[in-house]
Amino acid sequence: MGSQVSSELQDIHVVVVGGGFGGIIAAQRLKSQNVKFTLIDMRDAFHHNIGALRASVQSGFARRTFIPYAETFGDSFVQGHVERVDTERQTVVLRGGREIQYTHLILCTGTDGPFPGRFNEAASYQTAIEKYEDFIKEIQAADSVLVVGGGSSGVEMAAEVKTAFPTKKVVLIHPKTDLGDPDLLPGVRDQAKQVLLEKGVELLLGEKVRDLHQLQLNTTQKDMEVTTEGGTKLHTDLIICCTGLRVNTLAYKSTLSSSMAEDGALRVNQHMQVEGFSNIFAAGDCANVNEPKMAYHAALHAEVAAANVINSISGRKLTTYQTGNITMVMAMGWNDGVGQFNGFQLPRFLVTFFKSRSLLVWKSWWDMNQKEH
Ligand SMILES: Cc1cc2nc3c(=O)[nH]c(=O)nc-3n(C[C@H](O)[C@H](O)[C@H](O)COP(=O)(O)OP(=O)(O)OC[C@H]3O[C@@H](n4cnc5c(N)ncnc54)[C@H](O)[C@@H]3O)c2cc1C
Repeated sequence: MGSQVSSELQDIHVVVVGGGFGGIIAAQRLKSQNVKFTLIDMRDAFHHNIGALRASVQSGFARRTFIPYAETFGDSFVQGHVERVDTERQTVVLRGGREIQYTHLILCTGTDGPFPGRFNEAASYQTAIEKYEDFIKEIQAADSVLVVGGGSSGVEMAAEVKTAFPTKKVVLIHPKTDLGDPDLLPGVRDQAKQVLLEKGVELLLGEKVRDLHQLQLNTTQKDMEVTTEGGTKLHTDLIICCTGLRVNTLAYKSTLSSSMAEDGALRVNQHMQVEGFSNIFAAGDCANVNEPKMAYHAALHAEVAAANVINSISGRKLTTYQTGNITMVMAMGWNDGVGQFNGFQLPRFLVTFFKSRSLLVWKSWWDMNQKEH
């Protein structure tokens, strides 16, 4: 980097809101370029939620999925809940009133969804780990488990439970007949179904649970009755919900509502700049990009956003983000998996080897520049 750029960087302070898969990459890139930044997250540790479902069935795994921020980012990390962005005064306002000024802002607030796929609480990571360990006991105590939702998370959840506890009855209920993400190749979706059936998961397709919000989730209670909207009745000891991801808009909805798409994600241009602003960027699940919401994409967005903060300061041409063919792999327990790479269906053994065994935990420790301990 030239000396002119270095001197311009003196006056720069980038605030990154949200330390998920996008936020940690943005922060690491800024750190590596000696750009002053503050990373803010409501929690004290990064959550590798790709491993959250394994953490629900295998004791000791949850500990590997939380990586403390402070060890990587030191004083550049602030734990806090961002409640507002003041675009006039260029500040973010935290719960409790603390304000942090920015010259550039990268919003990476992601999505929330039900436990165990997501851990939404602003609790310490030790508490989070305990919650996963306790949840394993709930699954152990159940003879039958109902997984609600056959998107990628539901498919993976059903497979994890049946692989870890083959004698339990596991039922997956899904309102459509195809499983997994709609962006997956039809062959991959069929294969996901085939693997579940081979493992002995029972599929209830074309059916939806009635009054799901009134049912007790994540706690074992023998022989609960569940009715579908079609009138089918079934009994189960434990209900795990894998539906209902929503974009985390709290940080920005009061001031950036005119830049929000219908689902709450921020409309961005090809440089990942939020519509109407040259110094505010969005990356990851809270960016309205026409592609599946994935950690893999969040990291790519964040690379572009961080690069463009630096490019815009130095007067260089901005980098563009381009969507491509979908790469998506689903772990079906530790011993199987399905997926596609760059639009081509992958053999099951390859997915098993590269993803299902480790769930890519090592990658997040690498991204956080820490040794797993
Ligand atoms: C069970 C499951 C399995 C998945 N498996 C895969 C997979 O195998 N591969 C893949 O590519 N994707 C996978 N995904 C999707 C992936 O997890 C998301 O796409 C990814 O987490 C998005 O990253 P992000 O940085 O946008 O947001 P997130 O990872 O959601 O991070 C957002 C961060 O922002 C923080 N935050 C939010 N609001 C505020 C606020 N107001 N103030 C302060 N902090 C805030 C949160 O605490 C959080 O740490 C999976 C998702 C689930 C649920």
